[in-house]
Parts: sequence; structure tokens; C-alpha cells
Amino acid sequence: VILITMGVFWLLSILMSVWMSRLTMRPILKSWGRQTEFVGNAAHELRTPLTIIQNKLELLLTKPNDRIIDQAENIAIANSESQRLQTLTRDLLALARSDSNTVQTNFENTDVPAFLERTIEPYTEIAASQGKTLKVEQVTSFKATLDQDLIHQLMNILIDNALKYSPTGSTITVSANNLGRKWQLSVADQGIGINAADRERIFDRFYRVDSSRSRQTGGNGLGLSIASWIVTLHHGTIAVHANQPTGSQFVTTLPVNPASGLSTYHEK
Ligand code: ADP
Repeated sequence: VILITMGVFWLLSILMSVWMSRLTMRPILKSWGRQTEFVGNAAHELRTPLTIIQNKLELLLTKPNDRIIDQAENIAIANSESQRLQTLTRDLLALARSDSNTVQTNFENTDVPAFLERTIEPYTEIAASQGKTLKVEQVTSFKATLDQDLIHQLMNILIDNALKYSPTGSTITVSANNLGRKWQLSVADQGIGINAADRERIFDRFYRVDSSRSRQTGGNGLGLSIASWIVTLHHGTIAVHANQPTGSQFVTTLPVNPASGLSTYHEK
């Protein structure tokens, strides 16, 4: 009886330790799996433009006597693919920095409406050149503590997307509201919109609703994951809603003062 009881206890303790190790290993295995998936996706995204550039260069080498004008189309394609590579490597670096927490933040007390006006100014011309209107809804002045470079980057991503996924003749509206201890930044467009199932996933790395369309417009599916990281650094949230009657509205809610003791909030 003693031997059987000891045997049962021994078996139970082995089962317990296997179960415990599965519990502790699960997050490690999960993050390892995510990392492998990220590297796989990144390699895939890098390979496509590289293959195109290589093909175009090989084609040019087969016709050494051609003039540049004769091969302008191929050269232009190689050039736009190398620009895509540049954007992709910039975005991958940003995400690598976000994963390793190696970003030096610089939080400053900022007049939000004036900052928004300054930030979107260059985009008004780009929008006009595409036959679209970009406007900031006027609001009374208020201040919030934020990292201007990062919020600038966030706005670039949201406005860039709004322009990419909107037709000629449409309007993109940027607005900021002071809600007391929080403030909201909204970018609304009248474009193709995002269906409810995709709204859940567009903040995932490399996720694109329509990858061929996104490729045509120069997208790599990383913009919104960078946006979401910037918002997290500010202790805020980001959400997307359907805009009425068409399009999408991205709403970012941020604390007016992300942390009272900013010295403890600085990241290295
Ligand atoms: P991308 O570089 O492909 O635009 P993002 O991460 O910025 O990558 O966006 C992910 C996907 O979300 C896009 O591929 C697109 O399908 C969708 N999306 C983002 N913004 C908008 C928008 N304003 N209107 C419609 N679809 C959008």
C-alpha cells in the first residue's frame, strides 16, 4: 500500500511539474512564435521588391546599348521598389526599437491645436495635388504633454492612410477635442471604409485588408502597428469606427498628462 501511495504521489508530482512548466513556458513559446512569424513576414516583404529590382537590373544588363530613355519604365519601377524598401526598413527598425524599448522619448507641454496645424500643413498640398481636401476642425486652444516627434509620426501614418484609401473629391477631417483629463485626436475620411471583421485586425503587424491594393498604394501593413505602439507609449488608446455615410474614423484618446512624474516615464 505504501509503495502504491508513493507511486501515485510520484506520478502526481510529475504531472504537476509538467503542467506548471507548460504554464510558465506558454508565454515564452508564444512570444518566440510571434518573433519567428515577424521575421518570416519581414523577409517575405523584403524579398518581393528585391526580386523586382534584381530582375530589372538584369534586364538592363542584357541591353547595354540602350539609352536611358529607352529603359525609363524599367528604371522607374526599380526606383519605386527601392523607395518601398527604404520605407519598409524604416518601419521594421521602428518596430524593432519598440520591441526592445530603446526609444528615447521627449515629452513636452504642447499647444495641441497649433501643433496640429503645423503638422498637417505639408499634407494639405499633397491632398490638393490629388484633388482631395484636408482640413483641421478649429478648436479652442488647450495644452497636453506629448512627444511631438512621435505624435507627428502618428499623424503622418493616419493622414497617409486616409489619403491612400480615399477617392478624388473627398474630404479628410482632422480634429482634436479636450475632454478634461484626456484629449482626443480624430482623423476621418470618406474613403473605402473597413468592414467590422477587419477593424479588429488592422493594428496587427503586416495585416492588410487587400494586399494587392495596399501594394499598389505603397503599403506594407506596418503603419498602424507603429501607430498603436506610439499610442501605448503615451498611455492612450486607438480605435477605428465607420464614418457616416462612408469611410473610416480613427480616434486616438490620450491622457493630457501621460504621467505626473515624467522622469520615471522616460524610456531608454
Ligand atoms: P498599409 O501600409 O498597408 O496601409 P497599415 O498598417 O497602415 O498598412 O494599415 C493596415 C490596413 O488597414 C491597410 O492595408 C488597409 O487595408 C487598412 N486601412 C488603414 N487605414 C485605412 C483607411 N483610412 N481606410 C481604409 N482602409 C484603411
